[in-house]
Amino acid sequence: AATRIAFFGLGKMGLPMATRLVEAGWSVTGFDPFPAARDAFAAAGGRAVAEPGAAVEGAATLILMLPDGKAVRTLLTQTEGVAGRLASGTLVVDMSSSAPVGTRDLAAELAAEGVTLIDAPVSGGVKRAIDGSLAIMVGGEAEAVARATPLLEVMGGSIFATGPIGSGHAMKALNNYVSAAGLTAACEALRVGRSFGLDPTLMTDILNVSTGRNNSTEVKLKPFVIPQSYTSGFSLALMAKDLRTADDLARHEGVAAPLSGAVSALWAEALAELGTSADHTAIDAFLGRREA
Ligand code: NAD
Repeated sequence: AATRIAFFGLGKMGLPMATRLVEAGWSVTGFDPFPAARDAFAAAGGRAVAEPGAAVEGAATLILMLPDGKAVRTLLTQTEGVAGRLASGTLVVDMSSSAPVGTRDLAAELAAEGVTLIDAPVSGGVKRAIDGSLAIMVGGEAEAVARATPLLEVMGGSIFATGPIGSGHAMKALNNYVSAAGLTAACEALRVGRSFGLDPTLMTDILNVSTGRNNSTEVKLKPFVIPQSYTSGFSLALMAKDLRTADDLARHEGVAAPLSGAVSALWAEALAELGTSADHTAIDAFLGRREA
């Protein structure tokens, strides 16, 4: 029973992450409110339950891969069968990209019940969730981080202890700010270049051996942006949330971050226009709509 894990959130990332744990021999009970997600986990060999409370029964560790920190707080403090029902000594690992200040507050509330929270958000996308090579940034007490490490090693290829509770979430939001800024810049540059007569594929090849190279020029432009497939597997709504988190953090810290504010505002506008079903690489389509 000490090795029993409850996994909440079997979405694009959670499903492959939970599946890896099952394949590594852990006993994992998964919950997601979306029946198709539970069916997919059961088909992958996991045990899926339709009630959150049934997942936590007998679980020493809870792993959360939910949309945001609000969903995490709701699950842990307001959901029947979970809130107030976690055994003292339970370890909760929030792998969602949550907001760091909220994580710090939530950890203090849970500590009063003897429950330890650590934050362990990930980067790398669906592909690296499938092959277990995610980058994982972990905030929290060293002892709790050590307890989670064997699980994290199944899901991640590089694991970094970033410091106290919330520091992983801060790192993750700041990473995604840099990532989104790089993608936005690359999409703008390709659109301007194409208008002037440059070939976007050639531009990408040149960027990739020049100083404009970034993760988007390397892995997003050719498969998702240039053919306008916009199917990376990471939603625009979630990236817009991460940008808001990073910008909120800059303001919370009183640190000037004017570009962060501009990128966050642009992506909020894109979300309002393209809706919650859009992929984050569709920021390119949003820029295109503004060309007319
Ligand atoms: P997703 O929308 O595909 O999955 C989220 C899942 O959580 C959904 O299946 C939803 O039904 C479920 N859910 C919502 N409330 C729940 C609850 N109370 N209990 C259990 N399940 C619940 O999102 P995703 O792409 O898997 O992203 C999850 C998190 O990981 C987000 O914070 C995101 O920002 C982050 N992230 C995503 C990627 C990516 O490439 N997709 C990469 C790194 C980090």
